[in-house]
Amino acid sequence: MSATLIDGKAFAATIRSKVADHVARLKKEQDLTPGLAVILVGEDPASQVYVRSKGKQTTEVGMTSFEHKLAADTSEAELLALIQHLNANPEVHGILVQLPLPDHMDEDLVINAIDPAKDVDGFHISNVGLLGTGQKSMVPCTPLGCLMMLRNHHGSLSGMNAVVIGRSNIVGKPMAQLLLGDSCTVTVAHSRTKDLAEVVRRADIVVAAVGRPEMVPGDWIQPGATVIDVGINRIEAPEKGEGKTRLVGDCHYASCAEVAGAITPVPGGVGPMTIACLLANTLTAACRANGLPEPDGLTA
Ligand code: NDP
Repeated sequence: MSATLIDGKAFAATIRSKVADHVARLKKEQDLTPGLAVILVGEDPASQVYVRSKGKQTTEVGMTSFEHKLAADTSEAELLALIQHLNANPEVHGILVQLPLPDHMDEDLVINAIDPAKDVDGFHISNVGLLGTGQKSMVPCTPLGCLMMLRNHHGSLSGMNAVVIGRSNIVGKPMAQLLLGDSCTVTVAHSRTKDLAEVVRRADIVVAAVGRPEMVPGDWIQPGATVIDVGINRIEAPEKGEGKTRLVGDCHYASCAEVAGAITPVPGGVGPMTIACLLANTLTAACRANGLPEPDGLTA
């Protein structure tokens, strides 16, 4: 293996520690404690795990965690009323509605009911527009985490060829906007892209956000390129025993690591950065809400 490992787990720990230091200062000097409200509707097991982890990490950095667990048959009107209540609560600086929502709810309507200044997921249409026009916004956590890792590894990204595989609203599109904002030449690939291998071979930076286990092989990677693997896919792992599974990314790690200059592992790459960036966004929102300077290096 020749690639440098980009250790998202370790980097996320440094982000959390920066956030915790800043939170401690806000408490001491401003009597201000940033607060994050997380709303979970229903009992999806994966969502429950994410919400627990978010709550735990929120309190670990010294912020207040408000958890709202609603039954799966909660009406949309009840959820919207809760969001209005949290929008008006000055102790809540960030609001996150865990997706997916049950089928009887309109996700766009719910997300757009959040005060954009408290939209720490960066999914509100105002934040999407602000990001797209290069203005100060709340930036979606996963692409923000990828950007921070790229900046930390390369310093300037200016002039680099970046290929983002995937065009979802939560990863692919905002990732492309962020890379454009850092003056990369950006190509966004998707399921209809012709000759994807050739497109990816031109990239100095590859961000894979597809949701297909190990889809990108090493021979698609330009020697020395940086590979950011966003995918989280659970596959069967008979080598670990009957019925066992393991997590893999969208890139075939072993073959990509042979040729890449740097690569994020799965797990331990982009995943831990996502929650760290949620905490960073909550801190940023609390500073903005109180007219205080924003923390350095924690925003796009
Ligand atoms: P979506 O399913 O919303 O989007 C997938 C994208 O991949 C689509 O744009 C789709 O194209 C494209 N695609 C699908 N098949 C191909 C193909 N054969 N060739 C090229 N492009 C293809 O997924 P998300 O963006 O939500 O998530 C992507 C992955 O990232 C998932 O594995 C998810 O679990 C993971 N993830 C990880 C996070 C983390 O914290 N690490 C956070 C969020 C997501 P088209 O638009 O044409 O259909």
